[in-house]
Amino acid sequence: MEKKELTNKERLAIPPQKMPEQGPKERIGNVNEVPYGFTEEMAVAEAERCLQCKNAPCIKGCPVEVNIPVFIKFIAERKFREAVAVIKETNVLPAVCGRVCPQEEQCQKPCTVGKSLKSVDKAVQIGKLERFVADWEMNQAGSESPSIKPSTGKKIAVIGCGPAGITVAADCRRAGHEVTIFEALHKPGGVLAYGIPEFRLPKKIVGREVDNLVSMGVELRTNMVIGKIYTIEELMAEGYEAVFVGTGAGLPMFLNIPGENLNGVYSANEYLTRANLMQAYSFPNTDTPIARASNVAVFGGGNVAMDSARTALRLGAKNVYLVYRRSHEEMPARKEEIHHAEEEGVQMNLLQNPVRFIGDDKGWVKAVECLRMELGEPDDSGRRRPVPIKGSEFTIDVDVCIVAIGNASNPLIPHTTPDIQTNKWGNIIADPETLKTTKKGVFAGGDIVLGAATVILAMGQGRKAAQAINEYLATGAW
Ligand code: FAD
Ligand code: SF4
Ligand code: SF4
Repeated sequence: MEKKELTNKERLAIPPQKMPEQGPKERIGNVNEVPYGFTEEMAVAEAERCLQCKNAPCIKGCPVEVNIPVFIKFIAERKFREAVAVIKETNVLPAVCGRVCPQEEQCQKPCTVGKSLKSVDKAVQIGKLERFVADWEMNQAGSESPSIKPSTGKKIAVIGCGPAGITVAADCRRAGHEVTIFEALHKPGGVLAYGIPEFRLPKKIVGREVDNLVSMGVELRTNMVIGKIYTIEELMAEGYEAVFVGTGAGLPMFLNIPGENLNGVYSANEYLTRANLMQAYSFPNTDTPIARASNVAVFGGGNVAMDSARTALRLGAKNVYLVYRRSHEEMPARKEEIHHAEEEGVQMNLLQNPVRFIGDDKGWVKAVECLRMELGEPDDSGRRRPVPIKGSEFTIDVDVCIVAIGNASNPLIPHTTPDIQTNKWGNIIADPETLKTTKKGVFAGGDIVLGAATVILAMGQGRKAAQAINEYLATGAW
């Protein structure tokens, strides 16, 4: 019997589905993913909450404009293969984006359901639905490989195997070009592999996407630091007619306060790379050690700070303090990550700022001196400026400190390719539509252009760059 069409009132009355997840006590004892994902029944019920708005404001909230109402309708009809195909028209990494996109700030923010129920938390859970169908597809035997056009005989070099580089490689390979990815690290994936922890993004998902690239015929060369082993000029002389630079923003920023060079003070990049990429949590079964600590302070309030703090708990810390100079409200991390961190026991030391690290006689950090802050007028970012309270110094006893206050662009490629121009922050200047740099044949996108941004924005730029590269190789016009 044909199912009766629900009215909008009935759809709005369906409660948001709650994704099951590991409990906080259990999960800090392992590195497994925290949320388990929707069951089929949950996904269908969540999809039925969508009103199929004609103007679809959600699409405008998505940087790559996934056709959200259409894929959700397919889920409601249990046509999961069709749903995932719709997403993949504009987003090649749905299993990743469904997990890590800041959906509450993007596609879900303008959702009519959330607006009608007066809370963005009650919007249709687009990201979780995206994750559901991507995972469903992954579990099907023999998922189809994308079709590849006949060989053009043209060679493209992609530098960096993060989300931007992966997207460019896939789209250019589909157009029939020979694509080689040069990746500096020994494993591909960029931040998806070395930064975002396993408990938020299982590495097998990233691995599968890279395997797909290789099965499409993309050549992957790891341990290839471009700028050191080859320059871009040398790659072009080797016959690469177009080069895409997707080297990310992997240069950690520091606090520049006394004692920062003490043992036990890590940049978040180093800490997370050791823990994730090098699997230091399994040391001595793996080769890379990491300082095991009882008391850890993490400085910062973004996703990187949350990932570091939650990783420290999983490495056995008893007290993890997240020291942030503004209040809860201004924290740039995703709400879900803050909630998970708090549930797990991360202690939020808000309105505090470190002023110096204090070491013991062996050169290890043993305490950090902080100042209390209050909020003043808004600054250029629109957030209220933190102002130190005079005479409010106090110390926190620590064995490990993790600085997670942001990342900048690595200068290696611009330095070795002087005709590629950069802005005052060291980001490569590229046309926002074509991603062409100031050097003929060279394109750039992702964090190296945007500064530390998001996975989906990096992929969105990769998409545009691939289109421009394909056009350039077809016409030769710059
Ligand atoms: P990257 O992912 O940085 O990849 C660049 C690659 O280039 C790396 O593999 C690097 O090794 C390689 N490379 C660098 N220099 C060279 C060279 N000279 N030669 C060859 N290869 C080189 N975004 C979200 O959307 N949601 C999140 O929840 C989120 N959490 C994050 C958590 C952490 C800890 C971090 C660090 C970032 C997070 N981000 C998140 C940001 C997001 O991961 C980045 O915006 C995104 O990965 C940028 O993609 P990219 O391809 O430009 O660069
Ligand atoms: Fe939302 Fe990200 Fe998917 Fe776009 S790619 S629909 S922003 S989860
Ligand atoms: Fe569905 Fe929300 Fe998009 Fe409307 S705005 S189509 S309810 S997801």
